[in-house]
Amino acid sequence: MQAEQVTRLRVVIRGAVQGVGFRPFIYRLATEMGLTGWVINNAQGVFIEVEGDKPRVDAFLLRIEPEKPPHAVIQSLEASHLDAAGFTAFEIRHSEGAGDKTALVLPDLATCADCRREIFDPTNRRYRYPFTNCTNCGPRYSIIEALPYDRPNTSMRLFPMCPACQAEYDDPRDRRFHAQPNACPVCGPHLELWDADGATLAGHDDALRSAAGAIRQGRIVAVKGLGGFHLMADARNDDAVRLLRRRKRREEKPFALMVPWAHGPEASALRHVEALCHVSELEARLLRSAESPIVLLRRRADSPGPLSAAVAPPPNPYLGVMLPYTPLHHLLMAELGFPVVATSGNLSDEPICIDERKALERLAGIADLFLVHNRPIVRHVDDSVICVVAGREMMLRRARGYAPLPVGSSQKSEVSSQKSVVSSQTTDDRPQITDNRHIAADIQSPIANRINRQSDQSKIQNQCWPLGRT
Ligand SMILES: [Zn+2]
Ligand SMILES: [Zn+2]
Repeated sequence: MQAEQVTRLRVVIRGAVQGVGFRPFIYRLATEMGLTGWVINNAQGVFIEVEGDKPRVDAFLLRIEPEKPPHAVIQSLEASHLDAAGFTAFEIRHSEGAGDKTALVLPDLATCADCRREIFDPTNRRYRYPFTNCTNCGPRYSIIEALPYDRPNTSMRLFPMCPACQAEYDDPRDRRFHAQPNACPVCGPHLELWDADGATLAGHDDALRSAAGAIRQGRIVAVKGLGGFHLMADARNDDAVRLLRRRKRREEKPFALMVPWAHGPEASALRHVEALCHVSELEARLLRSAESPIVLLRRRADSPGPLSAAVAPPPNPYLGVMLPYTPLHHLLMAELGFPVVATSGNLSDEPICIDERKALERLAGIADLFLVHNRPIVRHVDDSVICVVAGREMMLRRARGYAPLPVGSSQKSEVSSQKSVVSSQTTDDRPQITDNRHIAADIQSPIANRINRQSDQSKIQNQCWPLGRT
């Protein structure tokens, strides 16, 4: 290689690029291509410098967009050529905290298939561990205290990693490389079951099993989840659901349901939902998406199923259904095997509870038991609510899974707001053409369409899903 062919490329990427495995992705790409340099998160986004011969550096730049991690959203990418600096290796440098905080924080992401497999695998060290996560899933927005998104800036800073977790965190080939909320039963948060006075009745897996037992017996359990508390009750038990309505002073509004994910063959994952509701392909995709919203589904008229009529009093044709979206919910719902009411833990007009001690006070007289954990929720996040009308999505409440990304830059419509700026003659115009195709496709997509149909939206809301909490 001749000396003049070696070049250094500086790349600045803005968007939702923190907490999605972006630095590990850049590390793997650069090392695979034999490039040296570094990558760093700072408050504005991800900064990269790579050095090598020009064709490979150019090829590196072209591979970033098409090969980026699934949940990354690139809003802008700027690249400029510099003189070679003589790097000898590629490294992930420590994040810089200074500067304007403009990097987009990612939403909380529903448990991925790999993590789901692990928590139900008796041979795995995370078997039945309710706080399992990886670079592709888990809490983000609800645990971030400051940018950049690094463990010391999240509520996971309270849990120093054990050697096994640290080894995963440090290994660029591992799914948990730089996964900020990484945890296991040895080092991470744990569950407790409290009575209404805050006395501990059980801990760890016993707490989960006892909470499931209480729900099965018709009791109302407040469950601390990702962005707040749910009140849960057996949705088949008329007495339990009516009691919850009375205690919550909620006469008519429909309650949201959490329905078990049928483990086993992926094709039958929605078996429990399909027993209650008609589910189109798009609705199935939404239910199982990383955003995991509540989806309003048409209930089956032919078979009312086992639900209490008090869940969504007639003539409401819809049920608001969500699948478990954290390992805690997966484990709890697998234990139960039937649908539960999962309504937000608050009186009808109060904000959602996020702190377990406050929950004890605020939910006194409503919840019989409290399934809590010691990972603080930094900010509350409600469940999102979506309805599909005429084959298109309509967002009724945009919260968990979508917030805080700006409207129009959800993970699926990520390319719509992207612009590529290459400030030197390093690439031809192929990436631009590719981008334009993506943008055109996105304009026709259901996600882009869902924003401007206020009248349909308010009609559905008024008729089927009155405004307010679920
Ligand atoms: Zn995962
Ligand atoms: Zn650990």
